[in-house]
Amino acid sequence: MQNSFHTNTKLIGLIGHPIKQSYSPFIHNIAAQFKSIDYIYLPFDVVIDNLENALKGVVSLGVRGLNVTIPHKEKIIKYLDELSEEAAMIGAVNTVVNEQGKLKGYNTDINGILESLTEYKDLITGSKVCVIGAGGAARAVIYTLIRYFKPEQITIINRTIQRAETLLNYFSEKMRFDNLKTADLFPPELIETFSSSKLIVNSTPVGMYPEVDDSPTNLSESFHKDQLVFDMIYNPAETKLLKLAKNQDASTLGGIKMLVHQAAKSFELWTGEEPPIEKLSRSLELMITT
Ligand code: NAP
Repeated sequence: MQNSFHTNTKLIGLIGHPIKQSYSPFIHNIAAQFKSIDYIYLPFDVVIDNLENALKGVVSLGVRGLNVTIPHKEKIIKYLDELSEEAAMIGAVNTVVNEQGKLKGYNTDINGILESLTEYKDLITGSKVCVIGAGGAARAVIYTLIRYFKPEQITIINRTIQRAETLLNYFSEKMRFDNLKTADLFPPELIETFSSSKLIVNSTPVGMYPEVDDSPTNLSESFHKDQLVFDMIYNPAETKLLKLAKNQDASTLGGIKMLVHQAAKSFELWTGEEPPIEKLSRSLELMITT
């Protein structure tokens, strides 16, 4: 079934800069086809200086909604009329819904993270975990871990330690979670932090296509069999970090599941329809590997 674009077609899209790498147009357009609904999803490359005007355009043109990506996830908040409780708590928005001229921000990365990690809940609850990165994706994963998984301790590891400290202060205050620590992204001090963590999350783009030989750590002593290593990167499906961890018998999880589930939740917010997750995942994996 092909979309037919005519006067009733509703527009949804993505704003960010740059956005060339995004799979979101593929996912949402194919989801609309699977559901036989009349939506089209387009990418809009919007630089920071044009963000406010772009949102005025969304309202004026009656665009139904947007995904939001780097570098707008945090800066967009001041231009929105309302935030979901979770987006407000995290301080980052990846989805905007236009409700009759009022723009409401959501964070559906949480849904993607929850779907990815739920089967490992027993491993994570009450354990030490660490998150590499301190950007928007790190905020979403730290929030989700504190709220739904209750780890004993979270160490935020980042290249720029001040950003990790900012997140520590933010979540200590907002969520009253005291067991946060920070660390620099420099070996060898990290071996102990990694190896004592039951969950290691990479929320940096290090290792993402085309830099597939990069990894946030090359220390194979960091990994062991009683661990889960979750890399949010979805291209490649198995990053160098995941290969290193797998070689040490750790469990591993890539970013495709998160990507599909966060997209599915955004699609539902815009259209009221639940897209078929399995069909979407298969189509995406096929697209990425060919
Ligand atoms: P962001 O806000 O720009 O944050 C990027 C983080 O990565 C920062 O902490 C940054 O450290 C760190 N970083 C960037 N380049 C680095 C390098 N060369 N070496 C060490 N650290 C580096 O980005 P984001 O929105 O959090 O997204 C991060 C990644 O998460 C994306 O690239 C994407 O792969 C992934 N993601 C996946 C999904 C999914 O659905 N699977 C969803 C969202 C995001 P500094 O603070 O030092 O700059």
